Amino acid sequence: MSHSEPNCLDMARGQLLKAAEKLALPQEVCEILSQPMRVVRVSFPVEMDDGRIRVFIGYRSQHNNALGPFKGGIRFHPQVTMEEVIALSMWMTFKCAVVGLPYGGGKGGVVCDPRELSPGELERLSRGYIRAIAPFIGPHKDIPAPDVYTNPQIMAWMMDEFSRLKGYNAFGVITGKPLSLGGSLGRKEATARGCFITIREMAKALGLPLKGARVAIQGFGNAGSIVAKLLAGEGASVIAVVDSKGGAYNPEGLDPWKLAEYKASTGTVGGFPHSKAIDSQQLLTLDCDILIPAALENQITGVIAPEVKARIIAEAANGPTTLEADRVLQQKGVKVIPDILANAGGVTVSYFEWVQNNTGHYWPEEEVNCRLEQVMVRAFRETYEMHLEQGVDMRMAAYMVALRRLYEAMRLRGWLGTEER
Ligand code: GLU
Repeated sequence: MSHSEPNCLDMARGQLLKAAEKLALPQEVCEILSQPMRVVRVSFPVEMDDGRIRVFIGYRSQHNNALGPFKGGIRFHPQVTMEEVIALSMWMTFKCAVVGLPYGGGKGGVVCDPRELSPGELERLSRGYIRAIAPFIGPHKDIPAPDVYTNPQIMAWMMDEFSRLKGYNAFGVITGKPLSLGGSLGRKEATARGCFITIREMAKALGLPLKGARVAIQGFGNAGSIVAKLLAGEGASVIAVVDSKGGAYNPEGLDPWKLAEYKASTGTVGGFPHSKAIDSQQLLTLDCDILIPAALENQITGVIAPEVKARIIAEAANGPTTLEADRVLQQKGVKVIPDILANAGGVTVSYFEWVQNNTGHYWPEEEVNCRLEQVMVRAFRETYEMHLEQGVDMRMAAYMVALRRLYEAMRLRGWLGTEER
């Protein structure tokens, strides 16, 4: 299935609805949260290297800002759609709420294939997109960050463009920047580190030792490759990895450091020495203890779920599991650490970066990691307790924790009407 299937938004709404029902929240809460507060669609011209002009389409969805400014990444991908961006922005609202950040949810996307663009074209496209959405973003309004196929260099161009427009250095308008431009130590590793912490906590709760645990990872980008190293560092065995071009499997374990070097030189993990080829479907249903989808949406479907053998699924990607698959996995007793919790480490360190930009005081890496650890462990425990107390799966529990915070904020702000007349 392609990641851009329209059911992404239905999925996000379905999850919201279920949690709101369980918490017996007023109907208005769901009505407000089932759609974005604002969606901007832009088209902008970009000059290509051959002198021709191409017009690109981009979006920025601002889902909800009850808890603070909109926050969320920008994705460059050929299959970006408005619906997908809306769903992703909705997930950001819940993600920020579940870990207790003072942020709402947003997401942006540009329909393009960055792998086909030269560095110059990529820079002009990044600047063009920011000029187009500049009236709607700002350090206290909406703060973008990297997402699929965007990186610190792109964030630097975007920050620079916004700063030029405003006439001052607005470092706090965007996070995930390079270190020399107000980026935070530990941001690059943050998504993977947060994911690793939730896996470690879940394994502890289940009495599963990480040492010797067999891990399969779908996606070997920033999140997938770093979580592989962190787990291997604890003695886990990464037995299979796939990326968009190929896969590598070795039941004796793959060396994630060598694998990353290999991918950097060849462009894929496929063909890695001493490994067998494996495709995505085989990986998702492989006999392993921990499965980490770290690529795109809609990967673990109702067809795949019955074949899943892992005990723990940690969703480093956003929306990798469909609603139908979720039901099957719950019946099978597979513990799914949901995306809004498992991958919240990225936005958490984005928040630290923004705090550092706002105060002008920069923290050592140990401080970043120590605070990330605190945030992730607390959010994991709150969710795990809700899961046990309410007898619901971890996804539902995470939504309930998030929704309680959102409800409280919206109620106190008066968005739900006057209580005493
Ligand atoms: N794109 C990342 C996410 O989906 C990070 C967002 C951010 O740092 O604002 O959580």
